Amino acid sequence: MKINQTEPVGKDEGDGEKAPDNAPVPEQGMNRRAFLGTVAAISGVAAVGTAGSARASEDFSGWPNSYGLLTDLTACVGCRSCEKACNEANNLPKPALPFDDASVFDQKRRPDAHAYTVVNRYENPKDKNTPIYRKVQCNHCKEPACASACPIHAYSKTPEGAVKYNPDLCFGCRYCMIACPFSVPAYDYESALEPRIVKCTMCYDARVKHGKVTACAEACPTGAITFGKRDELIKIARARIEKEPGKYVDHIFGEHEAGGTNWMYISGVPFEQLDFPTNVPNKPPIELTKGFLSSVPLVFTIWPALFGMCYAALKHRDEADNDKPAQKKEESK
Ligand code: SF4
Ligand code: SF4
Ligand code: SF4
Repeated sequence: MKINQTEPVGKDEGDGEKAPDNAPVPEQGMNRRAFLGTVAAISGVAAVGTAGSARASEDFSGWPNSYGLLTDLTACVGCRSCEKACNEANNLPKPALPFDDASVFDQKRRPDAHAYTVVNRYENPKDKNTPIYRKVQCNHCKEPACASACPIHAYSKTPEGAVKYNPDLCFGCRYCMIACPFSVPAYDYESALEPRIVKCTMCYDARVKHGKVTACAEACPTGAITFGKRDELIKIARARIEKEPGKYVDHIFGEHEAGGTNWMYISGVPFEQLDFPTNVPNKPPIELTKGFLSSVPLVFTIWPALFGMCYAALKHRDEADNDKPAQKKEESK
């Protein structure tokens, strides 16, 4: 099996080897308790009508020296080993059809609560007998619109490049779904009591944080997915394009789109023929999402009530959680 990796990320905490050279700094998320304080503060501000703009997202300026992935669509054979590896790595429900059932290619799919990544098939204009396959997942934007749209910091961008989502904070407004220029975040409708967004994690907690490659990159038998430093991946992509200009279109999708993404692609056919959103501006969509939130009058009419309700619900839950040990103690007397 060919595992494409430009260089080791760092090392697993358990094997005693050295840590990544871009050692993590505190993430921009927070726990529920910190959130309660923030919510209380926001509620107060909003209630007196001074919440004149949505949460600014200047926090997200991308991380230098971060990691990423490069998918070379000319090397993908549509085996779906990446889908299978992702399913297993994330303990997702088994799909209705086995991973070797090619009938799934009859329709275009999007990632959802049961699949953080999917592979779609396209006709190859250069060779009708050799279809093109495109793997879809979160692109882990350098300046993620999902994070900038989220009013309560449920998303964070790690120094390693992954965009993380914290379900403990999410209250289900779904602004992230609207803001994402690549239509990636999916809503888990089966999680009725706990609002939950689902998307590719870049295998951050289980792998990348510990110096391991992502499960999909490790599983790909053709080396279509390369894991490594984003800067190195761009060099690799450029070198491939320059070496075989007849094979590749002269474009690295994600180098600049949406301000740059940590998951990038190279292709043998124009990206628009593979349903890539080629109208995504190169400028990070942060300004747009700020504008989006502040242009929704509903936000200002329900904001204090929304946060108030949210605060009350979470406070109640935290109090209930805190009462549990005492309750148990009482019962055991
Ligand atoms: S692709 Fe969408 S969900 Fe993923 S980081 Fe970018 S904006 Fe967020
Ligand atoms: S990086 Fe991890 S979570 Fe994302 S598609 Fe690959 S295996 Fe799935
Ligand atoms: S494992 Fe590799 S070759 Fe197979 S579908 Fe995924 S990206 Fe393509």
